[in-house]
Amino acid sequence: MERYVRQMDLQKVGERGQARLAAARVVIIGCGGLGSASAELLTRAGIGRLRLVDDDRVEFANLVGQSLFDEEDAQTGEYKVVAARRRLSRLNFAVAIEAMTARLSEHNADSLVAGADLVLDGSDNDATRYLINAACLKQGIPWVFAAVLENYGLVMNIVPGKTPCFVCIFGRPADPQACRNKEKGALVATTHAVASLQVSQALRILLRNGECNPGLIYVDTWQPDVEIVPVKGPPMSCPACGRG
Ligand SMILES: [Zn+2]
Repeated sequence: MERYVRQMDLQKVGERGQARLAAARVVIIGCGGLGSASAELLTRAGIGRLRLVDDDRVEFANLVGQSLFDEEDAQTGEYKVVAARRRLSRLNFAVAIEAMTARLSEHNADSLVAGADLVLDGSDNDATRYLINAACLKQGIPWVFAAVLENYGLVMNIVPGKTPCFVCIFGRPADPQACRNKEKGALVATTHAVASLQVSQALRILLRNGECNPGLIYVDTWQPDVEIVPVKGPPMSCPACGRG
């Protein structure tokens, strides 16, 4: 526990909170820039079990923004989750890290998030987010949506039964698969800021047993600007989470 002394000094963590983190199981969907940064923060914080889900391999173009990978990983074309597990294990051997070389689909989403206390969105497209939303609603698992585009970012806590869900806020397209298009470029500094916001919210949900403030966090790291857009809900009429 010695390594967590400074973290346990925080009133919001303490020894009990640290033990709670050590017992927590988190799934991160996507191991690119955002997923890498969030995985590193959670590993250093001493999360108990981390499952990483991604089927991409490391390329040289990833080295600018994806902090868990190095030139050797790009040279050998290592799977991102395998390279990430190797790096994260060196940062904190006490964290059990599971590398799943898989792309989230409607066929595997339920089993990939099963048993998690929390799911983090490290994806780069809305089609994946609709799948995360559906699987998490079905199993009552909180998740933290995050997206980065250029120098802008969005983060929102989605706690089934307590906050609006992804469909409440963004609607449901006729064909969610059409949202597979990857988001365009992002400033690396913005990605890290969004990962920090995402992990802060993740820790808050884990330490406070799902308690969180509903609201869409918008950040512009260039201007800079941060806004919390209030959201209401969950509405009875939502086709995904409504009880009406
Ligand atoms: Zn909803």
